[in-house]
Amino acid sequence: MCDTKVAKWEDKVRKVIPYTPGEQPKCSKMIKLNTNENPYPPSKAVEKALQEFQIDSLRLYPDPTISNLTEVLAEYYGLKKENVFVGVGSDDVLANAFLTFFNSDKPILFPDITYSFYDVWADLYKIPYKVQPLDENFSLVKEDYLQENGGIIFPNPNAPTGVLQDISFIEDIVKANQDVIVIVDEAYIDFGGKSCLPLIEKYDNLLVVQTFSKSRSMAGMRIGFAMGNEKLISYLNDVKYSINSYTMNQTSIVLGVENVKDDIYFKETVNKIIATRERSKKQLKELGFSFPDSYSNFIFATHKTCPAQELFEALKRENIYVRYFKKDRISNYLRISIGTDEEMDALFAFLQVFLKKYNN
Ligand SMILES: *Cc1c(COP(=O)(O)O)cnc(C)c1O
Repeated sequence: MCDTKVAKWEDKVRKVIPYTPGEQPKCSKMIKLNTNENPYPPSKAVEKALQEFQIDSLRLYPDPTISNLTEVLAEYYGLKKENVFVGVGSDDVLANAFLTFFNSDKPILFPDITYSFYDVWADLYKIPYKVQPLDENFSLVKEDYLQENGGIIFPNPNAPTGVLQDISFIEDIVKANQDVIVIVDEAYIDFGGKSCLPLIEKYDNLLVVQTFSKSRSMAGMRIGFAMGNEKLISYLNDVKYSINSYTMNQTSIVLGVENVKDDIYFKETVNKIIATRERSKKQLKELGFSFPDSYSNFIFATHKTCPAQELFEALKRENIYVRYFKKDRISNYLRISIGTDEEMDALFAFLQVFLKKYNN
């Protein structure tokens, strides 16, 4: 193969710069605080359903309408099944939503510091976009979202900052943009934020997206969902059925239903993570870190004297994985997922020693 010459067919390729996911190291003895996974396993009810799973059902295609999971989610959130769309992780739901709703010559708007998949989907689908800088406290600036646009998307709480905007802030943006679709990505809303879901009754241009990957302990099952007006959901389904009718595999549907039904376990684990997060905030402050107040299952922290990249590498040598983004404005920050109390204590014990030379 000749590798110096660019083949003619290459000009016709749709070239994209892909999203870079956090590392999934194969090593078993590590503290993994780099991808915001839940440190607790799914509930016993989910485990039981997996053990009792009927292998014969895999012969058949799964239900294309994903009705069992859609109905249980609709009931949980007080909606009709026509208000819920389920996909293969919220990444799949969001990609479908970009393709369905962001179809204008005007740019879509999202923050400069945010989930780094948004610009990837925009590029992939050739959607023009204009990023809006967060203020110095990492808050969204409302006025930025009142200009003409082809659609709006932001996470709430935002990632990787953990900063939460309140409902009235979101309502003002949705209300001022009724000619376009506003997508609120609530991947972390269960960790203490207030969902803007009630606003879908009032505004037909709002789509709320959530996931089983963080608060519901099932990143490995790939389940995400969107909630909104019937018409929005029906447009989303039209696009889904134009790509792949059978998106959710049979096991994900069965285990997803059990997950939603065990609400006691869900609330217990979320509350444990919130308690660990609040304790971690105190510890990190004592160690010389500062961070915007987090309403998610991670803390976005910068140290007063130790450079983030150096700390990132030192932690990695200890088999403690956190996330570092070598990007404008945030290259001196680390995003630290909240693990179990034991994992966080191991992190703090290491930091105590390592930061000694920086903290004097
Ligand atoms: C984790 C995350 C997602 C995607 O999660 P899935 O595992 O695909 O459901 C979407 N948005 C944000 C902001 C996230 O952090």
